[in-house]
Formats: sequence, structure tokens, C-alpha cells
Amino acid sequence: MSEGAKKEDMSMANPLLQDWDTPFELAPFDRISDADFAPALDEALAAHDAEIAAIANEMAEPDFDNVIGALEAAGAALEKVLGVFFTVAGADSTPKREELQRAFSPKLARHFAAVTANKALFARIEAVWEERDTLGLSDEQARVLMLTRRGFVRSGAALAGDADARMKEIKARLAELGTKFTQNLLADEREWFMELSEADLDGLPDFVVDTAREAGREKGVTGPVVTLSRSLIVPFLQFSPRRDLREKAFAAWGARGANGGAYDNRAIAAEILALREERAKLLGYANFAAFKLETEMAKTPEAVRELLMAVWEPAKAQAEADATVLEEMMHSDGVNGQLEPWDWRYYAEKRRKAEHDLDEAALKPYLSLEAMISAAFSCANRLFGLEFKPLEVPLYHADCRAWEVTRDGKHVAVFIGDYFARGSKRSGAWCSAMRAQAKYPREQAPVVINVCNFNKGDPALLSYDDARTLFHEFGHALHQMLSDVTYESVSGTSVARDFVELPSQLYEHWLEVPEVLREFARHVDSGEAMPEAMLEKVLGAANFDQGFQTVEYVASAMVDLEFHDGAAPEDVMARQEEILTGMGLPHAITMRHASPHFAHVFSGDGYSSGYYSYMWSEVMDADAFAAFEEAGGAFDAGMAQSLEENILSKGGSVDAGALYERFRGRLPGVEALLKGRGLVDA
Ligand SMILES: [Zn+2]
Repeated sequence: MSEGAKKEDMSMANPLLQDWDTPFELAPFDRISDADFAPALDEALAAHDAEIAAIANEMAEPDFDNVIGALEAAGAALEKVLGVFFTVAGADSTPKREELQRAFSPKLARHFAAVTANKALFARIEAVWEERDTLGLSDEQARVLMLTRRGFVRSGAALAGDADARMKEIKARLAELGTKFTQNLLADEREWFMELSEADLDGLPDFVVDTAREAGREKGVTGPVVTLSRSLIVPFLQFSPRRDLREKAFAAWGARGANGGAYDNRAIAAEILALREERAKLLGYANFAAFKLETEMAKTPEAVRELLMAVWEPAKAQAEADATVLEEMMHSDGVNGQLEPWDWRYYAEKRRKAEHDLDEAALKPYLSLEAMISAAFSCANRLFGLEFKPLEVPLYHADCRAWEVTRDGKHVAVFIGDYFARGSKRSGAWCSAMRAQAKYPREQAPVVINVCNFNKGDPALLSYDDARTLFHEFGHALHQMLSDVTYESVSGTSVARDFVELPSQLYEHWLEVPEVLREFARHVDSGEAMPEAMLEKVLGAANFDQGFQTVEYVASAMVDLEFHDGAAPEDVMARQEEILTGMGLPHAITMRHASPHFAHVFSGDGYSSGYYSYMWSEVMDADAFAAFEEAGGAFDAGMAQSLEENILSKGGSVDAGALYERFRGRLPGVEALLKGRGLVDA
């Protein structure tokens, strides 16, 4: 038996590597076992290595198809294996799968680093790039070529000699520092807790008391405790009438990563900033923010600063007005002096209860999971003509459901919903494509999953936040399902970070359309529509305390931006103080994440110089939905068509700013966001 034939036999035996003769070529979950993953991954990595070597060593003159097209086509087996593995590792993990994931992560990191470090391959990409104007490329091909080359250049492929060696050192050190930063933060969060007596529990709602008792058991003490976990300390600050305890807890929360000793993050943050600046300069950028923002819709630090400051002033004015109200409430409580940061949440909660109290328990029966799925599907039908038909196929867990998505009788996608919380699922909610849409080297229709963590009940009832999450993830799913591009690397949600939340956050707006709630938010037993008074409360609660939330967020985003735009500061705390003072941060509000525990920025590179992107997306989604309202309503057919044509179908095949302008006729403005957050008079 020849080597090749033997390999083929192994593939035949491993269900992950076979051709899937299932409906819509879905992964045959009923035939896959955990023992298949490791050998399948090894074989798929070897196959990808061979494909990459063949592209790098090809004798024919480099052209688009034999370099860029071939790179797009390579790795098909790897995508199949990882598509299935990451789905089950995130949504239905087991100790075995966790062990596999620990083994796979460094393997995959090494594999992809070796691809971008392949000098022969990069030389061929460069050769195509040099000839790009003579190759008769389509717009999408030109874009894929630019993005491919840019990815290689940004990872250091064009560096040689000392610069190349130094880049490798910097990357290794940054990875080390990021891990250390995270571990220090976890250590500080783990070590601190404050014991509470039974009398200290007065005023705390049952769920906070239960969480505090459970936390005490975890810490090995007999009574309840407050820890620095956001899900415990935030409700404690909201509900505890004990000002002295709030102050103590708040101080510990704010000091994470800055307590001196072995777990202090301040010097680590400074070193990270210095190394990032050096890395950006080695690659030819003025500073790290310029390097980081090049790939984003924002493109420049100036554009980010302009956006943040446009929101800052009205948010600060609102927060200052709110602070006056809260301080008066405090004074009439018999507490003198200035409102402090540890007072804000407590008095804001009292005010919320007085002005907007919404009875969650009474609301839930109107928001059954079935009704909200129907609502999300119905909006997609009215906007884009999509139809959803339940599909009986084997999936990885009994709680998963699948639908075939069609339009005018033609197959569009398979949509999978995995909605319920369980121990084997990581927290949060997400959307992923087990298979992304593409037409090269062959047509492939997307297989898209939404994973959520809703409580399973009979029937399952959602909170309003849950319902919004369902719409949010479904918006991501639409971006994948309606994708209509040739090359997979620019398909669906493969777009800039500050653009990827536009379809998802925009879709949340349809849940807030009164006619949608009136039609679908019906009582699960009686079938009656939600009372109008409740509907008004639901819609009105959305912009409560937005001055505070916007201020604490923008303060963090500006510090992140300024840290990376210019020379790295030697003393991060002094620089942070200088930036906040310059902005005029109100006395009773602190940064949402101060530097020594700003994990978004220092635990890795994901959100460094990118924390602004949440606000950027929100500005766009508010502005984009306003386009529908201006055009005649939430279901305006012309706008829906434009949204699909210009944004949802295009993925990353066109620059994000250009896509938005085609849709809106201009770049996004902040007015709709300020109005939506109640920060200007509507
Ligand atoms: Zn999202």
C-alpha cells in the first residue's frame, strides 16, 4: 500500500475528514466522537502545510489565482475540523474537550505563525502585489489581495535581519506580559473579600444575599461575603444602604492590579505600551494607534477622538445634572457632603425604582423564547424575504434546533439555535459560522449558529435583556446568511472590528418597534398582547442613567486611545490622571476600567486602541436605524434592500466606510445615538 493510499484510508475512517453526504453537507455529529478530533487536526494541518508549500514553491509565474486564489482554497479540511471542534468546545465542553483545546491552541498558533513567516510565500504575494494594476482584477480580488498582503506585512513578513529578530522578541514578550497581566488581575480578584454580618445584609435583595452566601462558602468562611466579581460587587453597590461598606468595597474594586507586591500591574502596563510602540515603529507607523486603526473603519486616532468627544460633552452635562439629583437624594437621606463614586449606583437604583420600576416577573410571560424566535424570523421575512423551515438533522446536543433558510424557494443557509444555559457551555452569547459563505473554489452555503444562555423552562421565558440578546445574535447570523461574496476570507462577519457589531446592534432596534412587540409579545398562557403601559415602561427604561454609563465608558476609551497615540508613557497612572483631568471627569464617576485592571487593553491585543469600537458601532446602529425611520418606517422596503445590498451581503469585500456611505449617503453622525441615549432633547 502506497503512502498516499494509506493516508486516504485514514481520511475515510475519520468522519471529520470525509466528504459529508448529509443534508446540506452538515457535519455528521452522530458519527463524530471526541477521539476523532486530534488525529483529524494533525492530518488537516499536514494537508494545509503541503498546500502552503506547493503555493510557495510553485514554478509558474506568480498570478492572482496561483497565489491568492490558491491561499483562499487551501485549508478546507482544517476549516471542517475546526468548525466542528470550536462549536462543541464552546457550547458543549467536557474535560476531554478542554484538554484537547489546551493542546490545540499552541499548535494552531505555531501553524499560522509559520504561514506568515514563510518568506518564499511572501515573495510570491509581493510579486502579485507589484503587478496588481496589470492583472485585470475584479474589485473583490483587488481587495482580497490587499488584505492578504497587509496581514503578512503587519505580522512582520517584510522585515529582515535584526528587525525581524527583534519583532519576534517583542511578540514573545508581549504574549508573556499579557498573560501575566491577566493572572495578576485574577489573583487580586481572588484574594480580596469582605465578610458581612447578618445585619450587614439589610436592604440587599434575595439574589444578592444568595450570591454573597455562596461566595462565602467558596471562600471557606461561614458567613456571606462581598467579592470583587462584577456580578456581586455591582449589585452590592446598588443595594447596600451601608455607606461605609460601599466605600470599602469600592476602594478594593478600584485598586485591582495596583496593590503593590507581586501582583501589581502598573509596571507591566508601562512595558506593554513601550513594546507596542516599538513594534509599530519597526513596521513603519508613527505609533501604535496608527498601526492598530489602519485596519478599522475609523482608520485614524483623530477620527476616534472626534467621535468620543462629540459624545463626551453632552454625556458629561447629563451626568452632572444627574449627580445633582442623586446628591439631593443623599442629603435627604441624612448624609451630608459630596456625592462620591461609591454612592452613585445606590442612589441611581433608588431613583430608577421610583421613576421606571419594571416588574421583570410580570414581563417575562410575554417574552417566551418561542415568541421571540418567531419575532426575529418575522422581521427577517418582512425585511429580506427569508423563510425558515424546521430541519430534522443530528446536532451536537439535544437542545439544539435547526432551520433551513430559503428565499423564493431557493436554499440560503442552515440556521442553528442553541439557546439554553448548561454547565458545559461557556457564558455569554455568540454567533459563529460552522461554514462561511463563499463561491471559490466552489459554491458553499453558510451554516450559522446562535448560542445563548437562557434559562430553560417549560415554557422557556426570557427577560427583556435576553430577548435583545436573541435579536443581537440573530443580526450577526443575518450578516453570515445573506453574505454574497466570492472569497471566504471576506465573507460574512469577516470585517473590521469597529464594523462587525453594526448588523447585530442594528437588528436589536426591531425588537423595540412597538408593532413587533404588540404582535409577538403575547402572554404565554392567555395569548393576550402586552398591556400598553408595560410596553411603554419597557421602551422607556432603555435610556436610564445613560449619562453615567456613557461617561465611565468614554473615560476608559479616551485613556486607551491616548496611551497608544504618541510616545508610550513611563508612568501610566500619572498619564491616566492627566488625561482624565483634561477631560473634566465628574467627581462621582471613575473610569469603567482603570489601567491596572483594563484587561480589554492589556490582556491581549484584541481591544488595545480599540475600546472605542463599542461606541463607534452604537453610533452607527442608531444612525442606520434612523435611516429607516426617515425613509418611512422600520420596514421600509427600499432601505431593507439597501441594507442587504450595501452591508449585509458584502462582508469585508469593500472598505467599511465606503459600504456605510453607500447605504446612508454619508458617514455616520452622533445625533441619533445622543437622542437614543436620552442625552439631547429628542
Ligand atoms: Zn455582537
